[in-house]
Amino acid sequence: MPTVKNPAARLAAVQARIKAAAERFQRRPDSILLLAASKAQSADAVAALAVAGQQRFGENYLQEALDKMQATSVLEPRRQLEWHFIGPVQTNKTRRIAEQFAWVHSVDRYKIAQRLSEQRPPSLEPLNICLQVNISEETSKHGLPLSELATVAQAVAALPRLRLRGLMAVPAPSEDFAEQRQAFAAVRQAQEALNRSASLGLDTLSLGMSADLEAAIAEGSTLVRVGTALFGPRPSKAKLD
Ligand SMILES: *Cc1c(COP(=O)(O)O)cnc(C)c1O
Repeated sequence: MPTVKNPAARLAAVQARIKAAAERFQRRPDSILLLAASKAQSADAVAALAVAGQQRFGENYLQEALDKMQATSVLEPRRQLEWHFIGPVQTNKTRRIAEQFAWVHSVDRYKIAQRLSEQRPPSLEPLNICLQVNISEETSKHGLPLSELATVAQAVAALPRLRLRGLMAVPAPSEDFAEQRQAFAAVRQAQEALNRSASLGLDTLSLGMSADLEAAIAEGSTLVRVGTALFGPRPSKAKLD
């Protein structure tokens, strides 16, 4: 099985990118969390990055995530991992997701949130939620249209077993920094508007991936979801969903 080449060096390089961007845009580096997006990577690769010090991992597919949780549960206690679900949430998967994850970034309908709240075990802390918004409607099928955001956000914030933390988005890819920033700015502004009008106290902007994390940090991202830059290219059968 191929393992990650020098995971500690890759992790240090991504942390250095985050720190440099934070300094450039006058942010505190510790206000930006790093989530390792580990879809299609092996449990060994996840474990290697965990041993190098990475704690938060994001997965897109439930079964694949459960397998890696099992495989990495033998890590020593101080390496216990925090799992975030970042892929499309199917109705029939909500129970296991509510049981196994600390965060879900990809909630795009009230119905899904309602099920996650009902199914979150009482023994666990409330499930942290980001609403995924669609800011590139012509190119993406995922995410809430901005026009529905305020209504859905207020309803989700009222669910008892969830903690609505903020917004997530995956803009259409662009190589142009100004264009990347513009997409992220739209999400930040939507969040600011919600906090003003509905006092939701949202504190999380889940924005930025390997290719655009600097632009996301410029626009206020508090959590970047990074795959390729941490693990190298995904094995080819993987899809970016
Ligand atoms: C795969 C994925 C990422 C990471 O993408 P990279 O370009 O490999 O950094 C981030 N967020 C989501 C939702 C993903 O599916």
